[in-house]
Amino acid sequence: MKIICIGRNYVDHAKELNNPVPSSPLVFMKPSTALLRNNYPFFIPDFTKDVHYECELVLKICKNGKHVDKQFASSYFEEVGLGIDFTARDVQARCKEKGHPWEKAKAFDHSAAISKFVPKKEAGDYGFELQLNGDSVQRGNTEDLIFPLDDIIVHVSKYFTLHVGDFIYTGTPAGVGPVKIGDRLTGFLEGMKMFDFDVR
Ligand code: ZN
Repeated sequence: MKIICIGRNYVDHAKELNNPVPSSPLVFMKPSTALLRNNYPFFIPDFTKDVHYECELVLKICKNGKHVDKQFASSYFEEVGLGIDFTARDVQARCKEKGHPWEKAKAFDHSAAISKFVPKKEAGDYGFELQLNGDSVQRGNTEDLIFPLDDIIVHVSKYFTLHVGDFIYTGTPAGVGPVKIGDRLTGFLEGMKMFDFDVR
């Protein structure tokens, strides 16, 4: 199982971090040890002083595939969920400065919180929301994606064979910010509560 993530896939988020809007999808990966399931608490690791939440729609791959054609792309996921791409922003800044890969900042243990999954809709976009201690901090809708879900499947499957059970984190909207010990993160997809866990 692998976790494929898309970066800077919403214009407003790319701008809030002063990043250029990409002309092709920015892709990175996390290992299976990054998963944080079942509303287990997220423990802030000791190598960072600035961990940010990034709430994202997540696709669960249901078919093996390589070089997927756009017309078949949507058949590669049957279920969607919500996740948090935890990012050690201070570590990431140092990586970027040196032109180094992002893994230490993005792929550490439990950096990929994941919700339950629900069947995908027949058509249409997905609205989602992240609340921090009951306050709405991120609101996203897949209609605002720079690279839509089908395009993501087409693009990543050119490089990486998709396997049943892989996850694709599709990018975060604006509103990212730090977490601290004692915070509670609650995610909603189409108004449905998907995850609810503590930061410790
Ligand atoms: Zn992200």
